[in-house]
Amino acid sequence: MLIKKGIPVSPGVAISRAIVLDAEDQPVPKRAVAESQVPEELQRLDRALAATARDLENLRAKAEAAVGSELAGIFGSHIGMLKDKHLTGQFRHLIEAERITAEYAVYTVMRGWAEAFRQQDNRYFRDRTADIWDLERQVLGHLIGRKRAELSHLRSQAVVIAHDLTPSQTAAMDRKKILGIATDAGGRTGHTAILAHALGIPSIVGLEDLTSHVSTGDTVIVDGNNGVVIVDPDADKLMSYREELRRMTELRTWFDKVAHLPAQTTDGTQVNILANIEFPSEIDAAIQKGASGIGLYRTEFLFLAGTEEPTEEHQYATYRKAIRALGGRPLTIRTLDLGADKIASLGGDEQQSERNPFLGCRSIRLCLQNLPLFKTQLHAILRASTEGPVRIMFPLISSITELRQAKMILNDVREDLDEEGTPYGSDIPVGVMIEVPSAALQATTLAREVDFFSIGTNDLIQYTLAVDRSNERIASLYSAAHPSVIQLMRNVIRAGNRANIDVSLCGEVAGEPEFVMLLIGLGLRSLSITPPAIPEIKKIIRSVSIDQCRRVARRVAGFDSDREIHNYLRDELSRVVPEAMDGRNVEV
Ligand code: PEP
Ligand code: MG
Repeated sequence: MLIKKGIPVSPGVAISRAIVLDAEDQPVPKRAVAESQVPEELQRLDRALAATARDLENLRAKAEAAVGSELAGIFGSHIGMLKDKHLTGQFRHLIEAERITAEYAVYTVMRGWAEAFRQQDNRYFRDRTADIWDLERQVLGHLIGRKRAELSHLRSQAVVIAHDLTPSQTAAMDRKKILGIATDAGGRTGHTAILAHALGIPSIVGLEDLTSHVSTGDTVIVDGNNGVVIVDPDADKLMSYREELRRMTELRTWFDKVAHLPAQTTDGTQVNILANIEFPSEIDAAIQKGASGIGLYRTEFLFLAGTEEPTEEHQYATYRKAIRALGGRPLTIRTLDLGADKIASLGGDEQQSERNPFLGCRSIRLCLQNLPLFKTQLHAILRASTEGPVRIMFPLISSITELRQAKMILNDVREDLDEEGTPYGSDIPVGVMIEVPSAALQATTLAREVDFFSIGTNDLIQYTLAVDRSNERIASLYSAAHPSVIQLMRNVIRAGNRANIDVSLCGEVAGEPEFVMLLIGLGLRSLSITPPAIPEIKKIIRSVSIDQCRRVARRVAGFDSDREIHNYLRDELSRVVPEAMDGRNVEV
């Protein structure tokens, strides 16, 4: 039995067999397979070698047409290597003799060859080292990439153990089959974590070297409440976690009972509970969980899901579908927030890799540099807005100039629609996300030119504290309870309230039970939350008074460190709603 601790990002418990996915660009761990699985590994190897040879043949044909047969000959030598019986025999021998995965056999043998070539005196051989790395990467790409592709149509239930997952890989997962997720990499509010939470899959990230300790088929427990993964659990652990699963199901049923009651404090103050979604298909579940509208629709997932930029018609149809599904409840459409960890495979300038992507051309910056892309989206949103209440929200605004530019483009699109005679909704509220410290500090100025604010703490924390939100090595530094973050939130809420505009918060912190009293005490009356967390947050709101919340906010202002604040918030919550802490802090 092995117990590893990571960062819990989606609550719940999963007990199942593991499917392990390695990374193509990381060392492949040595992993044993059962004797009965050896023939399957040999077949996987043959398929990957054949697929690589096919790719290389295609490349050779293309290169020959473009640069002539001499240079295209490079691919010929790669194909030759792949067909070399001595090399492929070594792969097979290792799989059979040591009963290991095909990817580990390829990795070990190719590394051995590369090292032998690298140490040659002869320059020709030394130069071939790069060819071997290249070939290794291609074969591993087929072995590992194929396993990843298989995730979307698994035949039986499993827990996915991976080095890392992209947001689009996570989005494609079948909730009925994937019971839990555990990854080596990642941070609390990386988009993979957010999606896993939205899908309601118990998940843990930042487990560093978990993939080296698990083999496909092992039994694994993912405890997403406490951030613990147990590999090969003993009978006692299995029994106590089965009991835990039963208790959690009961608790969820209990929380779900309040889903359709108003989010109202004991003294009658209303809090507007909205939902965060990535796809319109999540809307029904969000309403089921008690959302009164959508406070954040992350439209970039429409772009992440495909390999081509969605056409305006496709966007229009998707937004219209979302508006109709809401039946008159408001839909806050956030314009494209691509870039950083949300990279679409669309090609073009926006795909250029950047040295520092979180500080790079992402989000509204990318839109303002790609006006046709931006205008197409705005055109589609405005056309769809005749179907029901829509709000438009610009992400990552860092200056008033950027806001004015974005609004100007929106006006241009309105004029285009007027000229075409195409109808669109009147008086559509336009707002901004406050997720950069410069915007938080300039909230009073921004408030004069927008209809609403939505505080995006996921980014606001990373930019305030200089902590990459998806880097597991510095995850302990990423904290919503940092006094500087709370001070910025206070500033934004105050500026918004003074200007009489709506202020909401749509970062993950809105769905974290221990923060609810603080956020309400700071003056927030609107929260946008990942749907599975809504009932529990409603339950907490219905158990506290505004005075209690204000007291919490005042006490918090007197602490110096995030640790003190976090401990205090947890204590307060367990005093007020002890059930909300149930399942957390389980002894392992
Ligand atoms: C945020 O930054 O808080 C936010 C909600 O946006 P995203 O997580 O998509 O960056
Ligand atoms: Mg953000």
